[in-house]
Amino acid sequence: MLHARNDWKKTVSAALLAGLLLPASLAGAAASPETSAAPSIAGNAAGGPESSAVQPDALKPEAGQAAPAAAVKKKKVLVIGLDGTRPDALQAANAVNLEALAANGAYSWTTKANSNYTWSATGWSTIHTGVWYQKHGVKDNTWTGSKFGQYPSLMKRAELYNPALSTASIVHWGPINDKLVEGIDLEKTVATDAEVVSDTVNLLKTGNPDFLFLHFDDIDHAGHTYGFSPKVSQYTKAIEGVDAQIGTILDAVKARSTYAQEDWLILVSTDHGGKGTSHGGGSSEETTIFLIASGDSTVKGQLTGATYQADVMVTALKHLGVPVSSSWNLDGRAVGLIQ
Ligand SMILES: [Zn+2]
Repeated sequence: MLHARNDWKKTVSAALLAGLLLPASLAGAAASPETSAAPSIAGNAAGGPESSAVQPDALKPEAGQAAPAAAVKKKKVLVIGLDGTRPDALQAANAVNLEALAANGAYSWTTKANSNYTWSATGWSTIHTGVWYQKHGVKDNTWTGSKFGQYPSLMKRAELYNPALSTASIVHWGPINDKLVEGIDLEKTVATDAEVVSDTVNLLKTGNPDFLFLHFDDIDHAGHTYGFSPKVSQYTKAIEGVDAQIGTILDAVKARSTYAQEDWLILVSTDHGGKGTSHGGGSSEETTIFLIASGDSTVKGQLTGATYQADVMVTALKHLGVPVSSSWNLDGRAVGLIQ
């Protein structure tokens, strides 16, 4: 486990170093010759390793230099929800695909979930609505008190703003689709994480999703059976199992015939941590979560500022070009994006 952690650090610093040492022009060319976003990545890297905060002024294209229309890639979002995944256990596990996503993006291992009521319904409600439990009203898995009329899922908001968006939610834990997500193009509830993978691979192959939410439940199940801890091998093995499944999904994204014309933002987070074999309280083990934002449109490296569970879907909307209205009264904001 110590080895995995060291390798992890090596991978990330190597990636950061590569970005820093490459001349801006070369870095831009290497990253992606056709996108206007590529020079922005180089521009940010040149700002220094601490600059996870975006510097919009440094990222503007030169005056009079209009980007060719062909350079605009189709923005797409894949949100991967890993139920009950503690960030310290994720780091202890040999999770090569999640490590690669973090190395090619912005990440935090100290993201804050709801300060209490760390249940699945509460956490997924915060991720999907972009507000804390005090606003969405869900304090346990009975879903009583939910205020999704006032604070609907942001996937629904995206669909309302742009009905042309293809939106889908494929989940292992059915209540996410039954109680929370609504007004989108496709809702699919399946019985296993393996089916989340096969359905998603099929959709990526035969369909054209723009905004996709996935929910995996096996890690949470391992936590309840064996313990939520980086020291519990059954728990870290479960993380590695889902990590391999994520690898299959990422391969399917890259295998899309239109992949070269697409700009995928991959977001990964969780509803809550865990303590012993349970969760639901306000301890740091239960409320400390993680957030990964990966892709060509993200800044690179560990996010130095605070990040929150409510930020996940707000970041997705920003990438998709869906404007957030102040009347929505959101608690989250976009994090980790270049602009
Ligand atoms: Zn649970």
